[in-house]
Amino acid sequence: SLTAGVVAVQGDVSEHAGAIESAAQSHGETAEVVEIRQSGIVPDCDLLAIPGGESTTISRLLHREGIAPEIQEHVEAGKPILATCAGLIVCSSDANDDRVDTLDLLDVSVKRNAFGRQKDSFEANLDVDGLDDPFHAVFIRAPVIDEVGDADVLASWDGRPVAVRDGPVLGTSFHPELTGDSRIHDLAFFE
Ligand code: GLN
Repeated sequence: SLTAGVVAVQGDVSEHAGAIESAAQSHGETAEVVEIRQSGIVPDCDLLAIPGGESTTISRLLHREGIAPEIQEHVEAGKPILATCAGLIVCSSDANDDRVDTLDLLDVSVKRNAFGRQKDSFEANLDVDGLDDPFHAVFIRAPVIDEVGDADVLASWDGRPVAVRDGPVLGTSFHPELTGDSRIHDLAFFE
């Protein structure tokens, strides 16, 4: 059985847990989901999800609790992370915001809350590299990825990257945990 850590400072923890369990099942695996709120848990995890929420808060707690360096070691060991929305902001190399001390795990620069300024949230069907059929994506006060360095763009919307991969780290501007479709979790952890 795999140990799957979900950063549980804020955000859709149970939805990520459900998607991880179902992605594991489709590979004949089982996943035990553990919530991460303090240091000492990440080193036992085979895979990690960092959910949406408020990136300033998540970043502050990860550093204060000593979880940040553990996540960096997880990636150095080649183990996968799915980072969604605020999670993507936290994992980026530059959040263009002094209140977010980024983990620098994904070579992209982001702008917070810059997607869909007119309306807070929107939905779109995305063609995603590695998926046969479009993925229904929910964007909520989503970050724009405005520069991509040494990372692959897996999906774009309106000419902008919204899913990127940098080695073991997959980041999305949208919320793949909200639609009962675990294919993005599958891509991040099992492909
Ligand atoms: N607006 C949030 C931030 O900048 C991200 C939104 C989300 O995770 N749904 O941190």
